[in-house]
Amino acid sequence: MIKSLYQKLFSERMRYRFHVAMRKARAFFLQGSEFYCPCCGKSSKRFLKKGNGIESREHAVCPNCGSLERSRLLFLYLKNETEIFKNNPSILHFAPEESLKSLFLANLNYTDVDLNPNLATYAMDVTDIRFPDGHFDFIICSHVLGHVPDEKKALSELYRVLKKGGDLFLLSLMDLNSAQTVEDDRNKSPQQKLEAYGEKDLQRLYGNDFEERIRMASVNIQKIDYREHFSAEDRQRMALGDGNRELIYKVTKI
Ligand SMILES: [Zn+2]
Repeated sequence: MIKSLYQKLFSERMRYRFHVAMRKARAFFLQGSEFYCPCCGKSSKRFLKKGNGIESREHAVCPNCGSLERSRLLFLYLKNETEIFKNNPSILHFAPEESLKSLFLANLNYTDVDLNPNLATYAMDVTDIRFPDGHFDFIICSHVLGHVPDEKKALSELYRVLKKGGDLFLLSLMDLNSAQTVEDDRNKSPQQKLEAYGEKDLQRLYGNDFEERIRMASVNIQKIDYREHFSAEDRQRMALGDGNRELIYKVTKI
């Protein structure tokens, strides 16, 4: 009842700002050096827990900038291995993570979009991208595809707006022990989806066939486990995850 009253009284945007303010207040009390976030460059005594019940993960959220394991690893990869932070390339960022978005704000060719108009500069559906063909040098689409009913339409749109030679970075929750993606239209309720796919708003849980599912004639695909570039100590200190959410699929348009 309290939650529903809170939602009625405050807009989504206000609730988000309040959430950020609370997290930053907690960061003040978590000063220390045990954990380090490469996105904001700040250290903490610990990172915050993400989610509840079977969805929960300890030491997932940086209290200073809100980055998650996958955003920290993707940031390290983008900074060390790509030209995305140099010479203002055109970038399209779906469902923008604040921790990454803040690092692109100096780039005038950066565009962030989300289905929800409260969460990005532009409201846009990944299955209907309102930009011309071959428009972007880079596209970041992390933990979006698994939520989209028409996966093939989303992929064809993403590939369409990517420049030739441009790179799309796709990440998703995956079950690395499963050969096949699990998808069943009978799983309709949030509880059924949570039990079947591990998150209550996923349409499917990808398996090791992910690369086959996203393959089209016009692209090259590289699967990158960038955690392997770091020592066990660094992986723990930066909390870079267990690999189920952090594999990077770099899709280059040819
Ligand atoms: Zn941070």
